[in-house]
Amino acid sequence: MKIAVLKETAPGEKRVAATPETVKKFIALGAEVAVERGAGETSSIADADYQTAGATLADRTGAVAGADIILAVQGPDPASLTGARPGAWLAAILDPFGQRARVDAYAAAGIEALAMELMPRITRAQSMDVLSSQSNLSGYKAVLDAAAEYGRAFPMMMTAAGTVSAARVFVMGVGVAGLQAIATARRLGAQVSATDVRSATKEQILSLGAKPVFVEAVAGIEGEGAGGYAGEMSDEYKKAQAELVSSHIARQDVVITTALIPGRPAPRLISDAQIATMRPGSVIVDLAVEQGGNVEGAVPGEVVERHGVKIVGHRNVPSRLAADASALYARNLYNFLSAFWDKETGRPVLDAEIGDAVRLTSDGKVVNARLSE
Ligand code: NAD
Repeated sequence: MKIAVLKETAPGEKRVAATPETVKKFIALGAEVAVERGAGETSSIADADYQTAGATLADRTGAVAGADIILAVQGPDPASLTGARPGAWLAAILDPFGQRARVDAYAAAGIEALAMELMPRITRAQSMDVLSSQSNLSGYKAVLDAAAEYGRAFPMMMTAAGTVSAARVFVMGVGVAGLQAIATARRLGAQVSATDVRSATKEQILSLGAKPVFVEAVAGIEGEGAGGYAGEMSDEYKKAQAELVSSHIARQDVVITTALIPGRPAPRLISDAQIATMRPGSVIVDLAVEQGGNVEGAVPGEVVERHGVKIVGHRNVPSRLAADASALYARNLYNFLSAFWDKETGRPVLDAEIGDAVRLTSDGKVVNARLSE
């Protein structure tokens, strides 16, 4: 059983899919691990550390040659996987809906592609859930990015020269990223409020010491939809939400938006007219910018200014904390593969519930039900 760990090639991608810790653990399971040279460099992991953990180093061709399992963060170029064992697994964040042609190419190359972001949100898969591990870090970093762009302080400070008032931070979308954003902004001393369409989040907001701001007159999603995710809201709800946001946002200094709807563009939550009501020097961080954006005028990969308000649209936010993001992602992959490790054959064998959810391709064909919907 040979596991190959690739060096990422996507622009700006600093993460890596294995750490010396997970390399050691895979070796303890009986696997052999080959790491592509320089794979850990941007996550502050030296080649020598992988070697000390027991891995061999190679170029892409050498690492992939005869590999049974290939680990990556983002989907690698299918042509670069030539030489892997027929039916070799590729475990990575594969963006199957955005990169359909690449999925077809994995099938044609005889690769069994496993999309880690399609891991079901079930209790036993929590430790394998890459969306959670990465979103949590994004939520944290979004607040730090906001603080860095904000020309004022977050905590209230009483000084001899007078009082600095606490920043008012509004978090829109209280999933994994939003919860961490609330907690981080609170730790920095901000006054925090938050909103979501799922009423179950109200309790969570309160328990973090923040103020819930909710549409009351129109029903939202009471409880949670499939997998705990939000769905598209009615026009009546959207109108009520827009009014609520308009009255609240003008009094906020920092807004962090994280709202996503699986399989659809991100919902638009803040309009240009609403931005114009904010005080100059305010900051908005749009974590959904790569999925279409929650904020009108947000530009992926840029910090832009509208009406004196900075709109931060960094791409790939987890990669901005590459060392921690890699450590958690690598553990997600290890937890996934080791949970299914079959001692007799010395390789993992997936069950139907998780296997069918994440498997995109098999035996030369695209097999995932969500890709044939
Ligand atoms: P997500 O990234 O899909 O969306 C972020 C948040 O945006 C969600 O809370 C969503 O309700 C909210 N949102 C969507 N449309 C909105 C709108 N128009 N206005 C305001 N907010 C809007 O969500 P996520 O972080 O992946 O979490 C989704 C759910 O899954 C949560 O309930 C979370 O607790 C649950 N979860 C479960 C597990 C598990 O059991 N393994 C793991 C992680 C998350």
